[in-house]
Amino acid sequence: MDVVPIPLLSDNYGYLLVSPDGARAAVVDCSDAAPVLREVERRGLRLQAILSTHHHFDHVGGNEDAARAVPGLRVVGSRADRARVPALTEALADGERFEVAGLHGRALYIPAHTSGHLAYVFEDGEPNVFSGDTLFAAGCGRLFEGSPAQMMASLGKLAALPDATRVYCGHEYTEKNLRFAHELEPGNRAIAEKLARVERMRAEGLPTVPSTIAEEKATNPFLRWRSPELRASIRARFPDAADDDVTVFAKTRELKDSY
Ligand SMILES: [Zn+2]
Repeated sequence: MDVVPIPLLSDNYGYLLVSPDGARAAVVDCSDAAPVLREVERRGLRLQAILSTHHHFDHVGGNEDAARAVPGLRVVGSRADRARVPALTEALADGERFEVAGLHGRALYIPAHTSGHLAYVFEDGEPNVFSGDTLFAAGCGRLFEGSPAQMMASLGKLAALPDATRVYCGHEYTEKNLRFAHELEPGNRAIAEKLARVERMRAEGLPTVPSTIAEEKATNPFLRWRSPELRASIRARFPDAADDDVTVFAKTRELKDSY
């Protein structure tokens, strides 16, 4: 499956998914219609659908404009966000399967950043997941509409995907996320090595997506609450906090909120 990252706004990514016959496309998170439509046209594609991960403006801001520009455009989003995703034509619930531009996908309901958040999983050939603002490379989204336990459950659903699954997230936050991860686990070689690699990529202006589920399990502090080194770092900063998994996760998120 051909995936083309399109940098949008200041640090968002939209992703063009190209059909197996190379003629059609869908876009994940159309935050700004003009650059998406330009890329579609430049590649001689026909845009058939938008897949919206969640209702935040920096993910759906281009839905209305794209729907006006492309008659018959399908706009797919979460059933729980029916009233909040602009120009929505199809609402999906957890586990529902769909087809866009000849590609077969599955919706994964992963609330907490927002209460309606979806990921889109494609398992034909090499697996890919579009994780929006829930799972970032080495990070996770803020808890605007959910609890730490809910975010842990949502991230757990993503972590249960096959290790080779490529992870396409909603923002280019990787470098800063890895610096934070490195502070909590200075002895984690996977984090140190990925940070060095990502610093080089960013210096050259390259996108750091995709990651993989295997890389995330090795480097993402929000999937690593079992790590003794991470737990010791949290304990050192919050000596009075409980040592259970949810508290360790919540304190990690709290630290990141002000990092
Ligand atoms: Zn968001």
